[in-house]
Amino acid sequence: MSIALGIDLGTTNSVAAIMQDGQPVVIPCCEGNRLIPSVVAFSTGGRRIVGRMAKCQAVANPEGTAISVKRKMGTGTKLSLHSGEYTPQEISAMILGKIKSDVEAYLETEVSGAVITVPAYFNDGQRHATREAGQIAGFEVMRILNEPTAACLAYRLDREGAQTVLVWDLGGGTFDVSIIELNGEVFQVRAVGGDTRLGGDDYDQRIVEYMLERFRRERGIDLGEDKVALQRLKEAAERLKVNLSRSLVSRITLPSIVSGSEGSGHLDFTLTREEIQDLTSDLVRRMIPPTRRALSDARLTPGQVDTGILVGGATRMPAVKDALRDLLEKEPLASENPDEIVALGAAVQAGILTGQTSKKVLVDVVPLSLGIETLGGIFSRIIERNTPIPTSESLIVTNAEDNQVEVEVHVLQGERAMAGDNIALGKFQLQGVQPAARGSARVEVAFEVDVDGILGVSAEDLYSGNGERLGVSSTRGLDPEEIERMVKDAAVYAEEDARMREEVETHIYADNVIRGAEMSLERADIESEASLAEEVESALIDLKRAITGGDRDEISRLAGVLESCARPLLKSACR
Ligand code: AMP
Repeated sequence: MSIALGIDLGTTNSVAAIMQDGQPVVIPCCEGNRLIPSVVAFSTGGRRIVGRMAKCQAVANPEGTAISVKRKMGTGTKLSLHSGEYTPQEISAMILGKIKSDVEAYLETEVSGAVITVPAYFNDGQRHATREAGQIAGFEVMRILNEPTAACLAYRLDREGAQTVLVWDLGGGTFDVSIIELNGEVFQVRAVGGDTRLGGDDYDQRIVEYMLERFRRERGIDLGEDKVALQRLKEAAERLKVNLSRSLVSRITLPSIVSGSEGSGHLDFTLTREEIQDLTSDLVRRMIPPTRRALSDARLTPGQVDTGILVGGATRMPAVKDALRDLLEKEPLASENPDEIVALGAAVQAGILTGQTSKKVLVDVVPLSLGIETLGGIFSRIIERNTPIPTSESLIVTNAEDNQVEVEVHVLQGERAMAGDNIALGKFQLQGVQPAARGSARVEVAFEVDVDGILGVSAEDLYSGNGERLGVSSTRGLDPEEIERMVKDAAVYAEEDARMREEVETHIYADNVIRGAEMSLERADIESEASLAEEVESALIDLKRAITGGDRDEISRLAGVLESCARPLLKSACR
């Protein structure tokens, strides 16, 4: 039976796991560590270093080191390192390549298949980039799997009854919250949220600031400008934080932290768990609003969540665990190694795909609504945000002009009502549309999102049968922050957007009524329908005047008046 890897390609660290005797197990890298820092570096001579060694030399070689490359996946930016320029995919592929060769050396066999995890909010471009990174590294990427779904699989919640699960994933630099519904054989990601600027690093930074302040106060020396001292303080702060997850008090000594004209001196520092919790209580509190938003997106209250899961190294902090327990009013599932959970779940999924483990259906969601631009610049949604994937939906659109032989399909994603406020994913022209009067062509635009969350769009003229397809693979990806900003903007601008959309719709309606009335005037027998025609003429003038005036209610009212008085004229014209 072939072996497939489960890989958590993380922002800070990456982890690889496989199924062994029916259990997922982590495979250590060649240096013996289970976590591989997601860091790639090039020396000035062009030598490539990946993982722990790359992380160690990062401070001394910032121009040659790539960190947190996951944040740039799918953005189309290039990273300039000593020896040249690299796409985020290429850098990620170097991390994946190290994982592949280390695992092969450990298992003494070739490994080709991989399930790679991504945050549930990753968009199409980011998923594509991740898949590409896997392919560049020489993997057959069997599945791009959502991280919270992997967490559920790691705990084998699929073997339990129907339940709602809330996953908190707090890593070094990001916080993700996901709500998953398990129903028999189906995992469904109901909602996602988080804070892309909140993670364990913020806790370290707080401790650094506190140490700096105390050193300034007690010794009258400012270490804030000393890069080397700052890096040492940062490392010390992380050690203190980690220690205080296990003990109530921790002490750190940094010999010769001050050297030079200001004299010399060392730093001896003791911190209690209570103190660190006081220093960082606001950081813990910041996890609550995105969680409440995700719950409200999923139309749930905290009490309706059956299981909470803690994922990511920073959830080892007791205050984080306490916060989730307090919110859900139940004990969350927490592993000794929360930073390995996602990789273990990915290995379970890899086992399912290679037939080593019983099959489960995995369903994830679309992170932002997908749709097209329609007349008047309106964003017409085809697939709503948080729709489970794989999914496909279509929309019939028509021609805006008489005898139009081409229809432009402008694909967008976002939550705003007007197309211009959303993100453009791509554009294509459907040629060979059968000429027809305005409003009578029928073009079906179909959206299909596959199990990996990747979008394909097609358009077909239902009369001529001519069709066109767009693979959205080449489009620019989105920053997670951008997704979050768009969702927030949609709420902020909801009222204004609704007004704008109504305005555009009123104009389209009025325009259609005017065209219909003018057509009925052209075709009707004006002699025999003189009074009716006069009535339509005057209603037409009133409506056109109202359009100039710009009062939407008035336009809408007068369009209604014109429509009802033009109807009998149109009927008589058709007789
Ligand atoms: P991850 O991205 O899941 O590997 O998480 C990395 C973050 O977890 C870093 O900020 C680490 O400092 C933090 N971390 C790891 N172990 C602990 C611990 N025992 N207590 C607190 N934070 C930890």
